[in-house]
Amino acid sequence: MAGTHTPAAATLEVREASKVFPLGRANGHGNAVTALSGTSIEVRDNEFLSIVGPSGCGKSTLLRLMAGLDRPTTGQVVYRGQAVQRPTGRIGLVFQDYSLLPWRTLLRNIELGLEFQGLPRDEVRARAQECLELVGLAQFKDAHPFELSGGMRQRAAIARALAVQPDVLLMDEPFGALDAHTRLLMQRELLAIWEKRRKTVVFVTHSIDEAVYLSDRIVVMEKDPGRVISVLDVELPRPRTRKNPDFGRLTETILEMLKY
Ligand code: ADP
Repeated sequence: MAGTHTPAAATLEVREASKVFPLGRANGHGNAVTALSGTSIEVRDNEFLSIVGPSGCGKSTLLRLMAGLDRPTTGQVVYRGQAVQRPTGRIGLVFQDYSLLPWRTLLRNIELGLEFQGLPRDEVRARAQECLELVGLAQFKDAHPFELSGGMRQRAAIARALAVQPDVLLMDEPFGALDAHTRLLMQRELLAIWEKRRKTVVFVTHSIDEAVYLSDRIVVMEKDPGRVISVLDVELPRPRTRKNPDFGRLTETILEMLKY
């Protein structure tokens, strides 16, 4: 049970990071945009950490820094004591748009990352199949992405990220494009996968409800400039139910912080 595990030491740390984009696309005047200002976050081993905040508060920027896809203007990102300078197989990423290759079958999509790692052919196949099974898509291994629903594509994207066996899974609004019903199902499935695989997950969402349902801790951000205003422990027992009055109370607290 996830509720019984104890998150341990910091896996991934953002230390006093700022990110300034010299040409802001937000204001249209070409002025610099401070997407992130003096932001520090400690992600603990095995925890499910969500980041919430309004559009433009720097959530995606923060995730890109954590993934090594971009570098902070000041400050650092540190993974197990080492500065993150570029993407590594230890830190996997899942985006909202699935990023599956349309001409490859599901199995071949999942094999892709493993091929880059130079693993033997049969190990590539075995691991890809195992991950498809984990997300309940084994019988669709020969289907192409366009033949699948949004929820199935997102499960395939999760399988692909897991196949390379990262320590940390970074997820950027992964369920943002799904209808409400599929989104709720995917939340449950993601928790089931997380409990089986015990990954450290950093999950960006602008749904406060989703963050409260999924997370051990929630980082609340505000914008102009993007910065952390609070980090909350979610003490609700798992499996969670939205009927628990504390669920609603915590959601309200976060809404108030964000002045909705
Ligand atoms: P969120 O994910 O919370 O919506 P983002 O991290 O996407 O926020 O963006 C934070 C701010 O930084 C926004 O004002 C956005 O317009 C700006 N920004 C993000 N990426 C770039 C970029 N590559 N160039 C210029 N401005 C950017």
